[in-house]
Amino acid sequence: MSTFSEETRRRRTFAIISHPDAGKTTLTEQLLLKGGAIQLAGTVKSRKSARYATSDWMEMEKQRGISITSSVMQFKYADKIINLLDTPGHADFSEDTYRTLTAVDSALMVIDVAKGVEDRTRKLMEVCRMRNTPIITFINKLDREGQTPLELFDEIERELNIQCVPMTWPAGMGASAKGVYHIHRKQFLPWARGNADKGSQPAPIDADDDAGLREWLGDDKDTLFEEIEFMREVCPDFDEAAFRRGEQTPVFFGSALRNFGVSECLDYVSDHAPGPIEHQTKDRVVRPEEENFSGFVFKIQANMDPAHRDRIAFLRVCSGTYRKGMKIHHVRQGRDIQIANAMTLMAGDREQVEDAYPGDIIGLYNHGAIQVGDTFTQGEKLKFTGIPHFAPEMFRRVRLKDPLKTKSLHKGVNELCEEGATQVFRPQLSNDIILGAVGVLQFDVVAWRLQQEYGVDCGYESVPVATARWIYCDDAKKLDEFKRRQPENLAEDGSGALTYLAPSMVNLNLTMERWPDIEFLATREH
Ligand code: GDP
Repeated sequence: MSTFSEETRRRRTFAIISHPDAGKTTLTEQLLLKGGAIQLAGTVKSRKSARYATSDWMEMEKQRGISITSSVMQFKYADKIINLLDTPGHADFSEDTYRTLTAVDSALMVIDVAKGVEDRTRKLMEVCRMRNTPIITFINKLDREGQTPLELFDEIERELNIQCVPMTWPAGMGASAKGVYHIHRKQFLPWARGNADKGSQPAPIDADDDAGLREWLGDDKDTLFEEIEFMREVCPDFDEAAFRRGEQTPVFFGSALRNFGVSECLDYVSDHAPGPIEHQTKDRVVRPEEENFSGFVFKIQANMDPAHRDRIAFLRVCSGTYRKGMKIHHVRQGRDIQIANAMTLMAGDREQVEDAYPGDIIGLYNHGAIQVGDTFTQGEKLKFTGIPHFAPEMFRRVRLKDPLKTKSLHKGVNELCEEGATQVFRPQLSNDIILGAVGVLQFDVVAWRLQQEYGVDCGYESVPVATARWIYCDDAKKLDEFKRRQPENLAEDGSGALTYLAPSMVNLNLTMERWPDIEFLATREH
């Protein structure tokens, strides 16, 4: 086997999806510890400050490096190279989070044992659904009392429409948590609370070692095996193909904080999560094992020095090998560019990349020529599809403080919009600029950057818009009629596409009923 296909096969690229406080940061840290990417617990703090106050986040963004380096974390585990992509979960939730999910091959869903399925998890799962991303589930905080496994399974299946198949099964919860039974290894994995920091636990006990199991579990042994028996009757058998299609999820139980059950979950990612998958382009499917390099940009982030306006474009390698110094073709601009200094984004530090393989993420320095959704190849005119804009959920009207700065405002808004920092809408019947976002912090970031980078002072006003839909219709006559009859709610987005800004969900539903030939789309491709 050539090095290239070996390297490709050993890549595992995934993201953790969860509702704030479910334990994503704690779990990330445990994974990095296991991968040797960090030495000390407590290192993965950088994003936390985002939760406390916007101003902290701004302060942190001034030192840009922090959030950039924690966006993609690469580490070795067993014989695999793991790329863990960060999906901000707190106040800094934005479209980036959604788009990051277009660059992964699987996702690890963290659920709080007591709280079950929560709002943000639901939204992130909707995005995973668009690409049938395989999902691995980690039920966290087992050191606390929570819902029973079957209650949780029921909730996940009902709310997220994915079948649960347990890989491990807990013996007790909260104060009486004694460990998990690993169904496939047919072993019981005991947990000793005092051992958490040492990262080691008592040796596994084989399922047929009755004396050993009794010694650790006492009478709980019978309960455990009765539960497992019952679970076997009610849960489907694990079906690898159904997992790959995103229809079934293998479920692990544990506690990120106490380092229980985390290794088993990481072992699963390493052994069974899919390696680099195929990607659809306009004309054909690109397979990772193809020799020619290709990839797409899913995120752009401002770089260290805001004064220089250089940004880092995150590119997911889809096929072939990236080698330092190589020339790659910028398809949208139809020109070649030499990449002298792409970087890889390790947990602690940025490093120059020598080589990158399918599944890897590289950071390209970008002085404005690269946009989210751009495709890079070795010459072939490909265009990767499926990197969407999502309908924003919050809207604000921009209020300019100095009218003489109108031109700079338009320039700034357009550029920040191309970068994906926000979405802009221009109503047909006014000169307003309406910004749309999926997280409220996006507005603050845009105002701050308009001021810092474009010298424009602006504030926001609330605006009666509940949601946006992109309008599409094959029939030009019907579309014209619609435009004539509904002008007050129509706007152009940053790319000139027609959008309907609905004042309420009720209005949207009524309008959709009234105009059955018009499509109202909640996502639009770049
Ligand atoms: P995030 O918001 O999803 O990144 O969640 P964090 O990792 O910051 O965790 C939120 C809170 O839950 C923190 O106070 C953690 O210490 C705590 N936490 C995380 N994992 C566990 C766990 O396994 N057990 C308990 N009891 N607390 C946990």
